[in-house]
Amino acid sequence: MVHCNPFVVSLKKSYPWVQLAGHAGNFQAGDYGKLLKKYCECEQQCLLKLMEDSLRPFVPGYYGVVQRDGQDYNLMDDLLADFDSPSIMDCKMGSRTYLEEELVKAQERPRLRKDMYEKMVAVDPEAPTAEEHAQQAVLKPRYMQWRETLSSTATLGFRIEGIKKADGTCNTNFKKTKHREQVMQALEDFVEGNTKVLKSYLQRLQELRTVLEQSEFFRTHEVVGSSLLFVHDRTEQARVWMIDFGKTVPLPPPLVLDHRTPWVEGNREDGYLWGLDNLIEIMSAMMPA
Ligand code: ATP
Ligand code: MG
Ligand code: MG
Repeated sequence: MVHCNPFVVSLKKSYPWVQLAGHAGNFQAGDYGKLLKKYCECEQQCLLKLMEDSLRPFVPGYYGVVQRDGQDYNLMDDLLADFDSPSIMDCKMGSRTYLEEELVKAQERPRLRKDMYEKMVAVDPEAPTAEEHAQQAVLKPRYMQWRETLSSTATLGFRIEGIKKADGTCNTNFKKTKHREQVMQALEDFVEGNTKVLKSYLQRLQELRTVLEQSEFFRTHEVVGSSLLFVHDRTEQARVWMIDFGKTVPLPPPLVLDHRTPWVEGNREDGYLWGLDNLIEIMSAMMPA
């Protein structure tokens, strides 16, 4: 357990805003419970479409592009604004966290990467094949796919990125939280045995699933690297939103996804709903009988 000082941004308001993932410096305070996130066109396009989609209640409100100190930002709702010392969890959804186009790019110029081999060995000396050991290097696509198997991304279709609790303790060290029991333990720790909070989260996730299954936006986008942000506080108010659409891209029509079919390269499936099914199942199992 560490205090995540680098990510606690003192905003102009009365509480320290907390960023659980991403680069420190990507966010700035806005006025009236709003937040500025460094501009990304892909994210802007998604947020614009989401404001017109049935998913709107599950995403931060979007207010367009603003400039500050020569930098463009997307202006959106600060989802923590209505909470009092909130506990926060970021769950990155999907069975892979790179886009198919990123994989294709890595495959186009296959170069042996010594740095990636070294990162691999540092985590698991057994991970490289005999050939990779001999070369002291791995190919980038191989590394990208291996990395997803460390956490629960490949096996459960989601992974915990970070948890910050009301008492200030913060944990972003979930890179090897892989198995169902480990994930459940982390979730137990996050809700601190509060059944009311757990029940609210479950209800909200079930509502989200129903809306996702009908959403035009969701059907027509590859949703990668997007997170569910869980927020609750001592009033037992507990809510979940979808955030981070920097890697959510439209599919070439008439292609649509069901977000549950296993991914094979070329089908663009992202495992988002499969991951949500697993998350709901694990949280249901945590509820007292
Ligand atoms: P990465 O792609 O590495 O995940 P990023 O720079 O795209 O990071 P986000 O994932 O969008 O950034 O956000 C990082 C963190 O900032 C989240 O984990 C969450 O703690 C906080 N955050 C993001 N958007 C909001 C929001 N609208 N309201 C409150 N907190 C937010
Ligand atoms: Mg993110
Ligand atoms: Mg992102």
